[in-house]
Amino acid sequence: MKAARVISELFYPSGIKCIICGDDLPEKTRYCVCSRCNLSFNTKFCLKCGRAMKNMADYCDFCQNEGFTFDMARAPFVYENEIVGLVRKLKFGAGKYLGEIMAQFMADVFYENNMSADVITFVPLMKSRERKRGYNQSEVIASALSAILDIPEASLLKRVKNTSTFARMGRRERAEAVKGAFALSDEKLIKGSRVLLIDDVFTTGATAEECSRVLKEGGCGKIFVLTFATSRIRIELY
Ligand SMILES: [Zn+2]
Ligand SMILES: [Zn+2]
Repeated sequence: MKAARVISELFYPSGIKCIICGDDLPEKTRYCVCSRCNLSFNTKFCLKCGRAMKNMADYCDFCQNEGFTFDMARAPFVYENEIVGLVRKLKFGAGKYLGEIMAQFMADVFYENNMSADVITFVPLMKSRERKRGYNQSEVIASALSAILDIPEASLLKRVKNTSTFARMGRRERAEAVKGAFALSDEKLIKGSRVLLIDDVFTTGATAEECSRVLKEGGCGKIFVLTFATSRIRIELY
């Protein structure tokens, strides 16, 4: 390895390689993605929950009927293909540096959707999991977003109940599993303040919903949910 590369690696360990394929980038780009790699951008989505849809309806079936407590959820990407790998890397592959790049994509979505917030918070992780991982990936993204958007960050929520892993659970099962899992932390939630809630992935929305419910009960105003990726609605009724 050349000396210049060694120095560059020291100071920009994430900035000079494509975050998807790992190829060298000719220069540091905004998103650190090379021209050959495609990302699954979320372009057609439910106007409320932000989940990807294929049909022409404005709202998904769930939002047309029951609906969520939060005001709006958005994500730059659909949780499929290379995006799955990126999220796994952030969580399990010592890819903490990816949080900053993810935050950049999410900041753009924040502006594009005219979101606004007085405070940024994040979905708390189970303590045992956070200890094992060494960090909470959602907090990492929230901190980076706080710096980009210049909005203060506060850990408004705490986890008061451990939940089993969600894989393969449907929306109702997840909603049941996550019920009572969160409570307001000791950090003061200013009444009426607009909250930007950060998580890595929006799947059925059960976690975002439960967090939103607690925040609303705590007296917050509007709640915007921003995740790096969101799910694709598979069964569309409209
Ligand atoms: Zn690439
Ligand atoms: Zn929806």
